[in-house]
Amino acid sequence: PSAMREIILEVPKVYWNDIGGQEEIKQKFKESVEWPLKHPEMFTRFSIHPPKGILLYGPPGCSKTLMAKALATEAGLNFITVKGPELLSKWVGESEKAIREVFRKARAAAPSIVFFDEIDALTIKRGGSGQISVADRVLSQLLNEMDGIEPLVNVTIVAATNRPDVMDKALIRPGRFDRILYVGPPDLLSRREIFRIQLQKMSVAEDLDVEELAEKTEGCSGAEIVALCQEAGLLAMEEDLEATEIHHRHFLKAIESCTRRISSEMLAYY
Ligand code: ATP
Repeated sequence: PSAMREIILEVPKVYWNDIGGQEEIKQKFKESVEWPLKHPEMFTRFSIHPPKGILLYGPPGCSKTLMAKALATEAGLNFITVKGPELLSKWVGESEKAIREVFRKARAAAPSIVFFDEIDALTIKRGGSGQISVADRVLSQLLNEMDGIEPLVNVTIVAATNRPDVMDKALIRPGRFDRILYVGPPDLLSRREIFRIQLQKMSVAEDLDVEELAEKTEGCSGAEIVALCQEAGLLAMEEDLEATEIHHRHFLKAIESCTRRISSEMLAYY
């Protein structure tokens, strides 16, 4: 019961249209979950196993969490979030119980999605800190539940990681996380869409050139684009506290000072 309070059950309010671009990933992700739910007879007819777990991997701030939430919202699924590191730190000694609790709750809330964020926390490579044994036990409990005798009916397991390179291979075997999708940094078109979504909510001047903003933000994550739009608003306020609009120049200035966290070394993981 003490562990249960930590499991957050929600009905998120993120729609596919709130996610700028990334169309191909949206499509593949939708298929993975919606087809088995909506067309189970096709899977039987063709003798195809629906994916048991879906792993989203890619650099930070590029919409993995948004994707999982949009899927739940649009398909009307209950959404349970579990953060990998929390399973280790908050539940030391109770970790296996906590995992069982997560799955019990997910079954009770079916149709549902369990979202394991930062799942790599459970798969730290051996030979180091004292948390390793806890991570190991949590991981094998997770695998037990996924392989389990009790079938997971209408429960979809989605996990996210920035570090596929440290993931335990046992997790990505068939019948576990057997659908693996790369969620990369937004391309030009996706960046334009992310700006478009942000700008809709802002009061911007006529001189605004979204195309140029999208071109100049190559290498930025979606999260960084959202942050720099906020920064542009602050810059406009700094310039004139009674300003009614944010101008193109404010966005250009915000882009200059935007930190790009996704490095080429980081992209080499993927
Ligand atoms: P992390 O690996 O750091 O957990 P993530 O890939 O799960 O990151 P999200 O949490 O989905 O990233 O995105 C962070 C924030 O960035 C979102 O809340 C949203 O504001 C913004 N964002 C990222 N990508 C997009 C996008 N394609 N469209 C709109 N907003 C985006």
